[in-house]
Amino acid sequence: MKNPRPPATSLESKLREKRRLPRSFKDLTPSNHFAPAEFFRELVWKALITPRTGTTKSPVFPDLKDDDLALTWIGHASFLIQFMGLNVLVDPNFANWLFLLKRLRRPGLKIGELPPIDLVLLTHAHFDHFHKPSLRRLPVTEVCVLPWGCGSLARPLGFERVIELRWWESFQHKDWRVTLVPSQHWGARTLRDTQRGYGGFILECRGRRIYHAGDSAYFEGFKEIGERISPELALLPIGAYHPESFRKVHMGPDQALKAFVDLKAQQLVPMHYGTFRLAFEDLDEPPRWLGELATKAGLADRLQVLEEGVPKKF
Ligand SMILES: [Zn+2]
Ligand SMILES: [Zn+2]
Repeated sequence: MKNPRPPATSLESKLREKRRLPRSFKDLTPSNHFAPAEFFRELVWKALITPRTGTTKSPVFPDLKDDDLALTWIGHASFLIQFMGLNVLVDPNFANWLFLLKRLRRPGLKIGELPPIDLVLLTHAHFDHFHKPSLRRLPVTEVCVLPWGCGSLARPLGFERVIELRWWESFQHKDWRVTLVPSQHWGARTLRDTQRGYGGFILECRGRRIYHAGDSAYFEGFKEIGERISPELALLPIGAYHPESFRKVHMGPDQALKAFVDLKAQQLVPMHYGTFRLAFEDLDEPPRWLGELATKAGLADRLQVLEEGVPKKF
């Protein structure tokens, strides 16, 4: 009689878990569901014939004192976060085109309108978040913090210091601290570079805590983040969730609201919708659906839908 199969070690199960994550765009888009022609028609062609909307503004950044915090959504996953004496950019992307994908909402401001930037946070190496041409055009920035395995992409871009973190590692400098927290996503920029990490960031400064989730599917990790560093403001992605298989790596508004509750955060700022057509849901569906769900759940007053290029003080 054969011995029963021994229980999987935790390393084995981890490896198996890893293999479940898609390695490429193709993994996300099973060819029996979507033929390349349908892909082209829905994501590339439809965007091409859709006029670009939104206006690029000349923002008036608020005066900040003590523990004030101001947030400006640039579009997609890009934000300017400001404290007194600290300007931070997260996943800055000012591109009008990502290869064949047309930007459908103008960036809220021009790169030239940015204040001097002290810190750039990059959540992962995907092209919509880690946009080299935008990063090259930034004024000289002291520090760039990103996940493990991504430093080699950032070093040639002119940062004075590039800091790589693993999940739950922090980097502290002056009066701020940034921690890389887990997400459920993947990091490969090209098909084979599986060494690149990914995650979200919690930025702490002057007693305030703001969380940018990067890209993530819904996962139990939000509860852990809520327990370990319950953030006050949660910037959560709500787009690129249809068809269902995309939810292996992205959340819909329904799951973002669940994540918000798990995080025990006070305010929810949605992102990662409306700018690029990366999936098959209607472009205006994510914020509309999120609004309906938040109202039903009695959380409407905690939802902060920002307009690109309009700073908001928190
Ligand atoms: Zn991504
Ligand atoms: Zn993304």
